[in-house]
Amino acid sequence: MTQLSSQTVAHSKIAGIPGVAHIIAVASGKGGVGKSTTSCNLATAFAAMGLKAGILDADIYGPSQPKLFGLRGKPRLIGPRTLEPMERYGVKVMSIGFMIEDDNAMIWRGPMVIAAITQMLREVAWGDLDILVVDLPPGTGDAQLTMSQQTPLAGAVIVSTPQDIALIDARRGIEMFKKVSVPILGLIENMSAFCCPACNHITPIFGHGGARIEAERRGIPYLGEIPLHIEIRKTSDDGRPIVATDPDSVYARHYMDMTRRLWEIVVTGTASKPAPRIVIE
Ligand code: ADP
Repeated sequence: MTQLSSQTVAHSKIAGIPGVAHIIAVASGKGGVGKSTTSCNLATAFAAMGLKAGILDADIYGPSQPKLFGLRGKPRLIGPRTLEPMERYGVKVMSIGFMIEDDNAMIWRGPMVIAAITQMLREVAWGDLDILVVDLPPGTGDAQLTMSQQTPLAGAVIVSTPQDIALIDARRGIEMFKKVSVPILGLIENMSAFCCPACNHITPIFGHGGARIEAERRGIPYLGEIPLHIEIRKTSDDGRPIVATDPDSVYARHYMDMTRRLWEIVVTGTASKPAPRIVIE
């Protein structure tokens, strides 16, 4: 963990966002692994823990937080250049998705991407936040580099599915963050195993346990796993994150457990307890 604290010092030179105590990025090597769904439920879980939480949807090519939070409409302009974030389930939400039509393709060059992300980060009235979750686009392009180099990130969380092909890309993401001295706060395995809603039979469609092994191999905290389950897909599509709308479900509890573990790592810079193995009831 010495590495983690020295990296934090390097980032302390970057101007912070007034009132925002901790900023964490959620990243993935490739699209479709559930990064946005995970970010949304992590932010909601932070709010459920009683923390002041916000989410910045920096996935400007495919912004999905408005849909995941069930939010529509445009944010209010409350100053010459300041936007008021939307709010749902106790989470302040800002996304480029509020500013564009659903079917509009964003064809932006690198400098425009950087300008848009910087604006959404710094020209939004976030107020006092304990934690701001940033949902990054997949991969290792301009948006990720801008966030890493111009934002005092507490660190990055990497979401991956368990199979080799996804983990190879996740490794690239880990390497990118290492190069720009952003600590890796932990690895999450999403779509870890499929539990049939009809018979409860568990099928590891994408394999199981790959992310845990990867985390152990690299000495990165392992935050836990989320199964592939229709309720997670349905609640996400309906804009009702499962953590907020079915908090007693086993899936919401998985998110809550990993969010508590993540918060501990953010605040202390250490991973104290090993992640529990998945139990599907
Ligand atoms: P990404 O942000 O990595 O592109 P998304 O969060 O948009 O991925 O998820 C892709 C699709 O997978 C969405 O339809 C989402 O509802 C679904 N999904 C994500 N995680 C799970 C899960 N654990 N169980 C079931 N469906 C999931």
